[in-house]
Amino acid sequence: MRKPWSTGKYSYATNGHILVRVLRRDEIPEREDAPPLYNVSHLFFKEPRTWLPAPVVSPQKPKECELCGGTGSVFYCPECDGEGDLEFENKYSRYTVTCDTCEGSRVVSKVVGAGDDGSKKRCDSCAGLGSRQDHKSVPIGDLYFSDVYLSWIAELPGAEIGLYCLGNPARFRFDGGEGLLMPRCKDDEDRWV
Ligand SMILES: [Zn+2]
Ligand SMILES: [Zn+2]
Repeated sequence: MRKPWSTGKYSYATNGHILVRVLRRDEIPEREDAPPLYNVSHLFFKEPRTWLPAPVVSPQKPKECELCGGTGSVFYCPECDGEGDLEFENKYSRYTVTCDTCEGSRVVSKVVGAGDDGSKKRCDSCAGLGSRQDHKSVPIGDLYFSDVYLSWIAELPGAEIGLYCLGNPARFRFDGGEGLLMPRCKDDEDRWV
């Protein structure tokens, strides 16, 4: 999803929460593994109930990922499969206990017999980026959006946000392109609505 692609008249990029498209650029190839657009492309034809100027917001700086210490990859604990706890079940009950091997941290410093990088996996906490950016919900009208993505949009020339009802992505448009943005929950949990 992180690689841009072209199809039809447009070139696209998305991370699953925000999608942007510009008129097709020759240097961006078509891709067979491109994310499907059938459930979003019709939204570009729907007129939002209102267009508002994109607000200027300043998100927090990215923080080093605690799980991988900024390296982007980890040895997931072999005992709990990187879950941090273990479940035991019998006929009567189910127990959850903290994993002894990783003490609940989900990762270990080394897997015996795995070689230096043998079973290192991409860190799922930061998607391998080594840093995490906390998103804060910022209200626009009666909806909430990530301050991080709003700061990206605000950098685009002439950016405006178009709102629909709850449950639909918002549209945004700027000189040179347009896009879709998922609303967030009001609270600061990492949840998207
Ligand atoms: Zn990480
Ligand atoms: Zn463990």
